[in-house]
Amino acid sequence: MDCIFCKIAAGVIPSNKVYEDELCLAFYDIAPQAPVHVLVIPKTHIASADEISADNSALVAHIFEVIPKVAASAGITNGYRVITNCGEDACQSVKHLHFHILGGAHLSEQMAQDGTWIFRSSPDGEGSV
Ligand code: AMP
Repeated sequence: MDCIFCKIAAGVIPSNKVYEDELCLAFYDIAPQAPVHVLVIPKTHIASADEISADNSALVAHIFEVIPKVAASAGITNGYRVITNCGEDACQSVKHLHFHILGGAHLSEQMAQDGTWIFRSSPDGEGSV
């Protein structure tokens, strides 16, 4: 198993969990780019959003059903962004499908307003998601 998020899903690498069920796992991002920054992943390996198909879209739908629970569990009370970086030009660094949940604007108005959370601002991704 060469994928870090597969290892986190399997419990081989520890994570700070927010939510878990048989299909997916949510955990805090190790390098938060917003006051609250959680990742939601399928437990089975899907490389990116580019690999979503009729065969696995029910799992993706399940993740989107879970996202409101994850946001609430993480203490997000006033809205959040859901982002997935897909492929090289989007600077996807972990090749296992994951959705960034970014919230807590009330804790950092500036980050919310200047768009820091929306897209990467540089190819190395420094400073933004
Ligand atoms: P992306 O660049 O969109 O592929 O996002 C990958 C995200 O995974 C980054 O925000 C990283 O900070 C995060 N990340 C990488 N390794 C870990 C880890 N072991 N635990 C939690 N988050 C991680």
